[in-house]
Amino acid sequence: MLVSQLIGRAGRCPGLPTTGRTTALTLIFTRPSELPKLTLKIDADTYRGTRVGVPNLISQLRRHGAGATFLFSLGPDHTGWALKQIFRPGFFSKVSRTSVVEHYGIKTLMYGTLLPAPDIGKTCADFMRQAHAAGFECGIHTWDHRVWQDNVRTADAQWTTETMQQAYGRYHDIFGHAPRTHGAAGWQMNDHAFVQLDQFGIAYSSDGRSQLREDGSLADQDAGPHRLSVFGKPLSCVQLPTTLPTLDEILGRTIRGKLIDAGNAAELLLELTKTPRDHVFTLHAELEGQKLAPIFERLLAGWRAQGYELVSMGDYYQSIQNDVLPILPISWGELPGRSGDMILQAM
Ligand SMILES: [Zn+2]
Repeated sequence: MLVSQLIGRAGRCPGLPTTGRTTALTLIFTRPSELPKLTLKIDADTYRGTRVGVPNLISQLRRHGAGATFLFSLGPDHTGWALKQIFRPGFFSKVSRTSVVEHYGIKTLMYGTLLPAPDIGKTCADFMRQAHAAGFECGIHTWDHRVWQDNVRTADAQWTTETMQQAYGRYHDIFGHAPRTHGAAGWQMNDHAFVQLDQFGIAYSSDGRSQLREDGSLADQDAGPHRLSVFGKPLSCVQLPTTLPTLDEILGRTIRGKLIDAGNAAELLLELTKTPRDHVFTLHAELEGQKLAPIFERLLAGWRAQGYELVSMGDYYQSIQNDVLPILPISWGELPGRSGDMILQAM
């Protein structure tokens, strides 16, 4: 949270003297923030996104005084395996919607196929540390995005633990401390993976989505932070699900009678956040950090104007950690604009 925001908020309390000392005391003793929080969760999926998108986002977020959490893919970039999807039904509609080549670049699409897969954690460690040095929270997205996304749902405990330990170890090597948070690649997990988060001592994580209607609005107004029950026991890790659609899920679709394009995507998302409540928005270093930066610029300004505090996952967790949270079973489902099942908050 920014000092200016804290002072601004304290200053709005009626009848408060405005000496520095009293303001400081007020900050300690009042419940943090009545402002709704918009948590910015940034997934860096690829080598290119980490080297180009992450630095772009760091400067953009700093200009807006926004907090955010960067989640990194720490092992090999096998994005190129996505080329194989060209032969799967439905791929071409997805290509025309978000123009995969335009956003990801042809080189990225060849990693792991025609070009060797770069090891992102080895070759981009400085770019990751820059985010931390600039004051942003960092965490684990995955070891190998493609491999995790395609395999974890049905993987056994050993594969899951070993894969997560690779990411954990690499994170520790890069940052010199244990990771505090996690956000699953492709919103794919399994029971063992959730248990492993507890074993790592991860207090909060964002591994799933809240259910959305066709127009992107929340299907359940009570959606939000919760704990999961796994193997008959509640876990201590708090889940902070993504509550808004991502840009690639809305671009190219007709929503509320309008074809959503780069010119009106921000408008639709701002419509979804018009009524204040806490939200988690997932963005991608490869999209908002590059070609879609102008849309993200409008979102940052728009959310500020709507009265949101733009925060990291850690800031959000601080504000809800003492709340009584629902304990829910793991559940799967689809969302409009994205193909395949993912972890969806049970209703
Ligand atoms: Zn991802």
